[in-house]
Amino acid sequence: PVPRREELSVATRRTSRKIMVGPVAVGGDAPVSVQSMTTTPTTDIDATLQQIAELTAAGCEIVRVAVPSADDAAALPTIARKSQIPVIADIHFQPKYVFAAIDAGCAAVRVNPGNIRRFDDQVGAIARAAGDAGVPIRIGVNAGSLDRRLLDKHGGVTPDALVESALWECSLFEEHGFTDLKISVKHNDPVVMIEAYRKLAARCDYPLHLGVTEAGPRFQGTIKSSVAFGALLAEGIGDTIRVSLSAPPVEEVKVGAQILESLGLRPRGLDIVSCPSCGRAQVDVHTLAEQVTAALEGFPVPLRVAVMGCVVNGPGEAREADIGVAAGNGKGQIFVKGEVIRTVPESQIVETLLAEAARIAEEMGVD
Ligand code: SF4
Repeated sequence: PVPRREELSVATRRTSRKIMVGPVAVGGDAPVSVQSMTTTPTTDIDATLQQIAELTAAGCEIVRVAVPSADDAAALPTIARKSQIPVIADIHFQPKYVFAAIDAGCAAVRVNPGNIRRFDDQVGAIARAAGDAGVPIRIGVNAGSLDRRLLDKHGGVTPDALVESALWECSLFEEHGFTDLKISVKHNDPVVMIEAYRKLAARCDYPLHLGVTEAGPRFQGTIKSSVAFGALLAEGIGDTIRVSLSAPPVEEVKVGAQILESLGLRPRGLDIVSCPSCGRAQVDVHTLAEQVTAALEGFPVPLRVAVMGCVVNGPGEAREADIGVAAGNGKGQIFVKGEVIRTVPESQIVETLLAEAARIAEEMGVD
């Protein structure tokens, strides 16, 4: 028998240990989670909470906030308490901000012990405080934070250098008996990044946070992240993801959620199956697909919607979809579950599809 789409999976997941970022499990058999980072000043508590609410609505499950100063650290208790999703404090050097973040109720801290040791060696105290509070730590290695010694040894920012750096950072906590860790080895080049994560995945069982750092503006960053995450997730590598874009963070979350949906790692929401159009098309497929996508964005039940430019392939695709249209000659054949239910003028295609979508939602008991 031919397996149904839902029965297929991209990969056997790498076995990683599970950690808890607040109530969100990361690693083990937990679903791959989507993260983002706020762009507001952390000291502006209202703006930060507003942005976190927007990220949450877009599908973000864990959010990171930057803590570069004492004023930012002072904002953490309110932000951690009022955020709908777990908050990770991102700290570079000062141990006192790490303790403040733990006391504030942050769900996790991102900090590299190598930096802490250089600045003021309180790695042991941090390990104890985080261990007592049940707060995991993410070690985040990237090109900018690589040790001179490793750069010289490996001849630059290579996958091996990133992995060695990450495992060394882990060892600084491990020697204090602290292993509630998650690791990232980000790089802006997907080729280096993919290889670094593959090597890291083979050398430890810590959960891995995937990221292509400084991936670029929306279009380029989306492509780079999708390609890199797709390659790794298809090999079962990756427990949580953050798409980095030079764009509002809500866009990062949308891309991250779509990557997981595309790979069947998160239940699908709106899935638009639209043809690229060709010389046979008798309507403007591109505009029609955009209109249908915009009209159904945020629709409360998962829907597969086919938008086809002619009746050559339309019925075939529409059969697999919940609803669909095959356009032709100024009209649209409207399909529901593969059956033509009516033909409407081109100007009524979008509203008819919307009405059919609403009917499906109603049948499922969703308003
Ligand atoms: Fe062309 Fe029709 Fe296929 Fe669209 S569905 S690409 S219009 S043949």
